[in-house]
Amino acid sequence: SKPVSDTILMPDGAVLPRLGQGTWTMGEHAANRAEEIAALRHGVELGMNLIDTAEMYGDGRSEELVGEAVQGIRDKVFLVSKVYPHNAAGAALIRSCEASLKRLGTDHLDLYLLHWRGTLPLEETVEGMEALVASGKIARWGVSNFDTPDMQELLRIPGGNHCAVNQVLYHLGSRGIEHELLPWLSGHKIPVMAYSPLAQAGTLRKGLTENETVQRIARNHEATPLQILLAWSIREADVLAIPKAGTRQHVEENAAAGKLVLTSDELWQLDDAFPQPSWKVPLDMI
Ligand code: NDP
Repeated sequence: SKPVSDTILMPDGAVLPRLGQGTWTMGEHAANRAEEIAALRHGVELGMNLIDTAEMYGDGRSEELVGEAVQGIRDKVFLVSKVYPHNAAGAALIRSCEASLKRLGTDHLDLYLLHWRGTLPLEETVEGMEALVASGKIARWGVSNFDTPDMQELLRIPGGNHCAVNQVLYHLGSRGIEHELLPWLSGHKIPVMAYSPLAQAGTLRKGLTENETVQRIARNHEATPLQILLAWSIREADVLAIPKAGTRQHVEENAAAGKLVLTSDELWQLDDAFPQPSWKVPLDMI
């Protein structure tokens, strides 16, 4: 089947890698710190130069760790952070952004996301995000965990069409976005940033990695089942994924998965094993 490009060209000219790096839970255990930093830096060298964090993660400890990881290589990295919904307007938004910049040791974010939809009026968030762009603190903004009706509402707001991405849960075991949200976003040239593309850890993931079809396809490619999951998650042109890996070994495997091309027959077999829902289901979230 068609080879997947390594990058996504944004309407504003920015170039995003198809695989970036997540950082949730990083920076929480001192014993893992050096390895986590080394893993992120190694990932950037391997082309996974988008790093995703949030003010929420470890109450700022993830951002602090990312700040350390990008020292000396900041200009090679596309840096993404997120604001809590309750901070996403007015003076609180500026304060949150400035605190994130300080922890990250940088003067600007490449992308700033509303972490999920809260109770503040979307108009005020858009206004605040646009002001952060104007002041140079962020290059662009986007949203996370927005379902289709939220996106439609956002795009009706003046400036709402500047939304650069929607970051949502997406993996082989959770395909709800394919029914409506993914095509809608593609139609509006808004890339999907797939979070938890490896289905995190635990029983849900086990159901995927221990599946016979996934295992057979993995053997065909001399790959691990997780590499098949990751390659699958970015098979569409407008999707990038942000797996979190705390070791260099995992980072190397994930980067290699980005080069793995699944055949149309294999994609069909995966469809058969894990069908896309044929009706609209509410957006999955973590
Ligand atoms: P992932 O699906 O990325 O899974 C992460 C887990 O997979 C970790 O336990 C990691 O272990 C393990 N792993 C990574 N690579 C490999 C590998 N090659 N082989 C075996 N195990 C591997 O889960 P996340 O929930 O962390 O999602 C990714 C990122 O998405 C987050 O870190 C965060 O940045 C973002 N996110 C955003 C949300 C939102 O609301 N916007 C919600 C959830 C996540 P190890 O660390 O030991 O490598």
